[in-house]
Amino acid sequence: MLKRESTSRTESAAPSAPIEPLETFAFETVPAASAAPVTPVVLSDAERLAIDRANEEARRRRLEAYEQMAPATGEYERPVAPKQSAMILLENVTKVYPGNVVGLRDVSLQIDKGEWVFLVGASGSGKSTMIKLLLKEIDATRGNVILGGRSLSKLRRSRIPQLRRNIGCVFQDFKLLPNRTVFDNVAYALEVQGQRRADIERKVPEIISLVGLGDKVEKFPHELSGGQQQRVSIARAFVNHPPLLICDEPTGNLDPDTSIGIMQLLYRIQRTGTTVLMATHDREMVDKMRRRVVALEDGRIVRDDRRGGYISEDVA
Ligand code: ADP
Ligand code: MG
Repeated sequence: MLKRESTSRTESAAPSAPIEPLETFAFETVPAASAAPVTPVVLSDAERLAIDRANEEARRRRLEAYEQMAPATGEYERPVAPKQSAMILLENVTKVYPGNVVGLRDVSLQIDKGEWVFLVGASGSGKSTMIKLLLKEIDATRGNVILGGRSLSKLRRSRIPQLRRNIGCVFQDFKLLPNRTVFDNVAYALEVQGQRRADIERKVPEIISLVGLGDKVEKFPHELSGGQQQRVSIARAFVNHPPLLICDEPTGNLDPDTSIGIMQLLYRIQRTGTTVLMATHDREMVDKMRRRVVALEDGRIVRDDRRGGYISEDVA
């Protein structure tokens, strides 16, 4: 088992950059790229054994990396903040889909500016419903969804694109434009809001280097690995420094080693003051990073732990 003795670091959150008002940021979502087909592979016993060993080794490295990203000792402190500093506020939110299917049941939740929150729960527990409510892709049946102090039920249709430009989104399937280069995929987020060419030419290469793809600007998505594609989608999500980053299973299609790099990148982004809400199934990552964990079950919040862990024994 891994236990780091020497580290007595406490959670000294880097002084966060001031969070600018929602209007100053912009982000545009783009249509999904079609997923590549998966070919089944038949393995011999020896191959399987070798893979198991490699997986075990990768798992060990992964746990080590996640431990380094989390405070090794000490409690994780949520920023103490009054209610108006909430980035996300759900007040008794219920979502009932047509056919009487319940997505969320009477959910109340506050996530403060600058927080990192994992959203966990089995498939069908309501994670994506919560995310779609925040993006106003769907409306709550009852209750209030308040983002950056603004009630989404009162938001006019014409203002929805502006809302979405303020939320960086990272999805499991990357959602890159297949016929555009890395540069153009990221530039697109700025073009749709009419930013000046000179600004685009300056900001795009900067963010692409930040995500470690400086030598890939002219490549197309199909020329990149899954991890590299996800880095492009993070660059696109973050190029305008949105105050909120929502990730729905961002490492769901990636191998564990690649996931580490992606998580480290998102961690760096959060430390600039960005609020991060991440739906995930990656149990080890959630356990190790010891961030706030909100667990959903059948549309209800069954757990809200300040200092994470995927499974709680005391929840039936
Ligand atoms: P998760 O993301 O945790 O897997 P979802 O939020 O997608 O869960 O789903 C929560 C519940 O709402 C499930 O029972 C699901 O079948 C249902 N649901 C989600 N979207 C729709 C929809 N568009 N129409 C009807 N039911 C839906
Ligand atoms: Mg989902």
